[in-house]
Amino acid sequence: KVVVVGSINVDLSVDVVRHPMPGETLPGRDVVMGPGGKGANQAVAAARLGASVAMVGAVGDDANAAVALSQITASGLDRTHVRQAPRATGLAIVVVDADGENSIIVVPGANSLVDADAVEAAADAVRTAHVVVAQGEIPASGTIRAAELSSGRFVLNLAPVMELPVEVIHKADPLVVNEHEAGLVLAMLDRDREIPLGETHSDVALALIEAGVRSVVMTLGARGSLVVDHQSELTSVPAATVTAVDSTGAGDAFVGALVSRLAEGESLVDAARFASRVGAFACTRPGAQESYPDLDDELPALPVP
Ligand code: ADP
Repeated sequence: KVVVVGSINVDLSVDVVRHPMPGETLPGRDVVMGPGGKGANQAVAAARLGASVAMVGAVGDDANAAVALSQITASGLDRTHVRQAPRATGLAIVVVDADGENSIIVVPGANSLVDADAVEAAADAVRTAHVVVAQGEIPASGTIRAAELSSGRFVLNLAPVMELPVEVIHKADPLVVNEHEAGLVLAMLDRDREIPLGETHSDVALALIEAGVRSVVMTLGARGSLVVDHQSELTSVPAATVTAVDSTGAGDAFVGALVSRLAEGESLVDAARFASRVGAFACTRPGAQESYPDLDDELPALPVP
């Protein structure tokens, strides 16, 4: 059983020729609205792949709530612990220009209600989960409480990076971060650390373990990921080669797939190899949750070394 404690959003994506200047009105070329939020994305990805998943989160009482919950409902997730509050549903407004350059506004809305008390209200589910998953899109107090209550595996995808007590990051097993986030987390764990000349991604991943993290998965986009397991052994997991049309939510597909396999007791490296295939699959279709595979979809294979 997997419990995801995290954000639920609507993603509103608008294509423009160029980004507007302050005070300017521009025609948009296209608009797409769909369910998003890192928490919901990861929960839906895991559920589609057969995991038994419960979501702890909150939506508002506006029209966007139905959009935000659409895939959560369709994928058969347990949403007993998803609260509805008289607020706006979390909203991410993504403006993409002709060069593919993004600018994004994220309004947390109801996600800001997922604090320590809200997680406490779901204490039974969190305590008994085999895997508890959290990200950086809810208040720190909610993530801290999730870590404290979890007695199984605590997976922390610290995206975006937020300040957390060192004990919470130490409990991460694994900490899942991209290369940029990895550097920020390392700086948080060891504030006086000097960055060695020519430091590689592998150096950073291993330094996170030395700084006390139990295990690490560092995602590197089309270059795959690096895994450091409990034996401090470093493994490079390749990406699958696909024609990427939209990488929105690929990182979340990766995390959802990873936890679905960790919940079955698979090793971290094997789970990351599966997640790599799922992350690549999600790049081949537009959108976030709509792009995720289910068990009937054929996943791209990893290159043979
Ligand atoms: P984030 O979007 O969170 O920064 P990444 O870009 O590192 O995450 O992507 C997460 C994972 O998704 C990667 O480790 C990889 O397995 C997969 N992935 C992302 N982009 C591609 C791509 N263009 N081709 C194949 N796999 C990809």
